[in-house]
Amino acid sequence: MARRLKGASSADTRSAILDLIRSSGQISRTQLAERSGLTESTISKVVRGLIDRGLVVEGGHAASTGGKRPVLLELNRCSRWAVGLSLDFARISIVLCDIFGNVVHSDILRGAGDDPPQHVIDRVASDLARFLERHEIAGRDVIGIGVSDAGRIDAAGRSLRSSRQASGWEDFDVEAALGERSGLPVKLENDANCAALGEFWSGRIPSADDFVTLYMASGIGIGFITNGDVYRGASSNAGEIGHLSLDIDGPACDCGSQGCLEVLATPAAVVRDARANPDLWRRICADGEPESTRTAFSAIATAAVAGDPDADALIRKSARYVATAVLGLTNVLDLDRVVLAGPGFAIAGEIYLETVSDTLGRLAFMRRVHPVIVQMGDTGPQTAARGAASVVLHSHLTPHHVRE
Ligand SMILES: [Zn+2]
Repeated sequence: MARRLKGASSADTRSAILDLIRSSGQISRTQLAERSGLTESTISKVVRGLIDRGLVVEGGHAASTGGKRPVLLELNRCSRWAVGLSLDFARISIVLCDIFGNVVHSDILRGAGDDPPQHVIDRVASDLARFLERHEIAGRDVIGIGVSDAGRIDAAGRSLRSSRQASGWEDFDVEAALGERSGLPVKLENDANCAALGEFWSGRIPSADDFVTLYMASGIGIGFITNGDVYRGASSNAGEIGHLSLDIDGPACDCGSQGCLEVLATPAAVVRDARANPDLWRRICADGEPESTRTAFSAIATAAVAGDPDADALIRKSARYVATAVLGLTNVLDLDRVVLAGPGFAIAGEIYLETVSDTLGRLAFMRRVHPVIVQMGDTGPQTAARGAASVVLHSHLTPHHVRE
């Protein structure tokens, strides 16, 4: 930290100090000086600026170490807000997060469906304006909008384009269109990276740790956080573990390969296998045919947790594939922490957690050198939207991407 901050620009210094305050919860000026390697007078000046801007407040005192009890600094919870959106076919989640990434208000909007992209963005921008007005949030206090989407970056880099099948989205610039309609900065990020930054920002992960978040919704991806930022790769498309082939003679995948994790372990794969077992499928449909893959997977996961042996076998099979992919990743990256997140783990997460932990405990190449912690992250329906809001907070408040 000291090496990085000496000679850094004032904006970099300010965001680094802000990030230290965030990740510490509460911290004194003296501790800030110790941890940053900056002088106390520089710290005082930067902190005064942060207090003047309303980003930081003084809150309570630390225990005395002999002299006066030092004043503790903390982020001003309600000083700035970030909006998170997850652009899904069936529904659009919208959340308003405080500066810590906690959801303070949320709503569900009509999904993108087959509407043309510009119509969806116009509709979302109007709904967003009403949402902020209803909660009496001034636009000037909103740092920006994070948008989560299952997708990839286009060949030109930078702007993430949607991979949604609906026509028009592939060439549609979501950041520019929503930015123009809302008047706020917009950052588009894939859902797995959103989930990973959400875990990081929420403070559950120490800021010095490198870790992977495996995100499962309808697809499976990972976000790899290293040095407090997302690892992006050559074209910002790192993390497509869903297309790691686990069976070279396995079923064909949309990507052109065979036996990818996605065709073996996703909710759609589990539902496909359940349909092939007439007895199980009859039990799953006892209260009527599930209306979507998502609801069918929920019913199978619920049956597995309740002890249905066939449903349990299918979930465990999916979990073994996930565990095998995580094992390979752990061996390649020498990870010591893996987080499982996303709505795919909402019901039968314990089975996945147990299977992945057991596999890594038995088979991780470095198991005698260090343990690998496997933990459950956010699995709520708003994981991606909340993560998207964290992308905005991270982008605005950390030294990696300072936005003035
Ligand atoms: Zn594939």
